[in-house]
Amino acid sequence: MPLDPALLAVADRTKGFLPPDEAAALHDAALAAPTGTWLEVGTYCGKSTVHLGAAARAVGASLVTLDHHRGSEENQPGWQWHDPSLVDPHTGRLETLPSLRHTLFDAGLDDVVSVVVGTTQQVAAWWSSPLTLLFLDGNHTEQGAQHDYGVYSPFVVPGGLLAIHDVFEHPEDGGRPPWNVYRRALDSGTWTELGATGSLRVLARR
Ligand code: MG
Repeated sequence: MPLDPALLAVADRTKGFLPPDEAAALHDAALAAPTGTWLEVGTYCGKSTVHLGAAARAVGASLVTLDHHRGSEENQPGWQWHDPSLVDPHTGRLETLPSLRHTLFDAGLDDVVSVVVGTTQQVAAWWSSPLTLLFLDGNHTEQGAQHDYGVYSPFVVPGGLLAIHDVFEHPEDGGRPPWNVYRRALDSGTWTELGATGSLRVLARR
């Protein structure tokens, strides 16, 4: 079931780093996920949140999206993916929360998506909910990516899904950490790979 055209239009005009084919694959994968609580790590302006949120509504799940909203390393001034229009004049720092709020309002997903603002370390200190879907797309440093997998993936119940973004087999195509997390997941023997689209990998907990 493709994403509703009106919501697709919202997602397509939302800033982000998710190509259309990977967005569609994420939406499709989520539609096959069990209902329950879903967690997205790394929200940015909410492009993937629209795809996941629409699927969550369709299957009756609740989506939590987690981000500190100050941008990853590669979004900071002087880096490749910096967008000066996202700098908050009050703090002088990147601030993507208002963009996310606009995205969710435009998509009509405020009642499906719970927005959690904090670092993944902060939230890991109190997170206790079983997950039926986990989408890892947060900090892409080795330490950050491994942390997020290490603390949140144990909450995924059998039959639940793990999606990982920016998984590049070849170093010339992108950074290593998401690939290393994907390999760690496969090597753990607890996940079965369901599919790959571009740099998106979808696994299911055995
Ligand atoms: Mg990504």
